[in-house]
Amino acid sequence: MQNDENNFESALKVNDGIPQPSSVNEDLVRKLKARRKPQLTVEQYLDGILSKNRVILSQAITMIESALPKHQEVAQQIIEKALPHAGKSIRVGITGVPGVGKSTFIEALGKYLTSKGHRLAVLAIDPSSERSKGSILGDKTRMEELSADENAFIRPSPSAGSLGGVARKTRESIVLCEAAGFDVIIVETVGVGQSETAAHSMVDFFLLLQLANAGDELQGIKRGIMEMADAIAINKAEGDNMPKARLAQAQYKNALHLFPPAESGWIPKVETCSALTGMGIDTLWSMVEEFRDFTKANGYFEHQRQQQMLKILTQAIEESLNNRFYQHPEIEKLLEVYRKDVLENKISAYIAAQQLIDTYYSKFKS
Ligand code: GDP
Repeated sequence: MQNDENNFESALKVNDGIPQPSSVNEDLVRKLKARRKPQLTVEQYLDGILSKNRVILSQAITMIESALPKHQEVAQQIIEKALPHAGKSIRVGITGVPGVGKSTFIEALGKYLTSKGHRLAVLAIDPSSERSKGSILGDKTRMEELSADENAFIRPSPSAGSLGGVARKTRESIVLCEAAGFDVIIVETVGVGQSETAAHSMVDFFLLLQLANAGDELQGIKRGIMEMADAIAINKAEGDNMPKARLAQAQYKNALHLFPPAESGWIPKVETCSALTGMGIDTLWSMVEEFRDFTKANGYFEHQRQQQMLKILTQAIEESLNNRFYQHPEIEKLLEVYRKDVLENKISAYIAAQQLIDTYYSKFKS
């Protein structure tokens, strides 16, 4: 790609027809433009990623996260070319309420893994990050040591848009991280709301971090999240907290017995650990490896990944159909009328839906 003026994208760019506000400092704009690095070609991105260049990987993920159509086009091409090089990692989801110790745990696990010769990428799904600066990975002081480790790559949650949009970006970033040779991918998410389901839909193994106040916790924790977990780790199990942690371990084990057996054939385990002292981290990792070996042997590992891909396909189709339908200006108008009619009992909701869809297909489809 030529390094000419047109290749510079800047948030300061002013669209045609929009008057330039006087507050924009022209000198500064020129300086900023001059300082901006030219965008790489798709091949350059790919080469950089395949040669494990973390800076280029990071820039490629920025393209994935960008809302600019021009960037998206490049991002999709990079992903397509990276796909044949992806997939050779173990993907681990980690969830737990804020304060349970996720980042401390990931730092301890990450250092343990890099010391064993693994390369680890930490990604996150936190759709709240735009509004509230996020509960996870937002501030740079988190995972300080791991960030400095050249065999680790830490990326905060993409902050733009809906959970679906954020999840897509994280999923696409996984592809690039795997192509860049990271053999362990950690997807961190907060243990509140829907983001676990999104994280669960892109990992092989799902770990729920919990605290020792088992009695109350068992009541509070959403059943759905426990059902997704391949393991529960009771964190902060050290010192005086140890007896409580052991009690919680027993209670969670009992609670898990009540769930129907998992499709994987794996019986979820409950362990205690201390992210602070490192106790239990090695055991937990051995368990992840045991899970991988077990599910690779019985075929579930591949099966789950295939199911995940097919689900994305279905979701993408549904989303696109939905958008086309609801964003069609004529349908928008008609929908208003039908909504009123349904509320006034003039027509049943089912018939209204069918008529709207028939109208869409007969008249407006294009
Ligand atoms: P996150 O919000 O889930 O990412 O939790 P953090 O990793 O930020 O941890 C929240 C607080 O718990 C911090 O003050 C940590 O130092 C502390 N913490 C994390 N893990 C442990 C642990 O294993 N033992 C103890 N005692 N404190 C911990």
